[in-house]
Amino acid sequence: MAKARRQTRQLEVVWDAIKDETSHPTADRVYEKVREVVPKISLGTVYRNLQKLVAEGRLQVLTLGRTQHFDPLVRSHHHFICRSCQTVYDISVDSKDYVLPFTVPEQGFTVNSHELTLYGTCKNCST
Ligand SMILES: [Zn+2]
Ligand SMILES: [Zn+2]
Repeated sequence: MAKARRQTRQLEVVWDAIKDETSHPTADRVYEKVREVVPKISLGTVYRNLQKLVAEGRLQVLTLGRTQHFDPLVRSHHHFICRSCQTVYDISVDSKDYVLPFTVPEQGFTVNSHELTLYGTCKNCST
């Protein structure tokens, strides 16, 4: 019982660290933040809890290169990634006003959703 309680608490601590994040942190970043609250927690525990939150649909994973970034914004949105500072920005779209910018080349495929990643230079890096 005590173990189950601790696991729930760890999950909530991890969730608290990421729920208001808009910076799409990596597991390492979340780990650093969680450690301020629970100094003894391991990276493995943080990672496991992040995967659990993903499985529960509370987090979205964005894989950039080989790195996973975690995103508490789970409704459909796109991303803009700055090539200079590697910052990931959210781009919100109204799905009903948004038209798929290309057609699927084969017949018999149904598109339910899509996500787009745009690359470029952000405002901060442009000035
Ligand atoms: Zn930038
Ligand atoms: Zn996002």
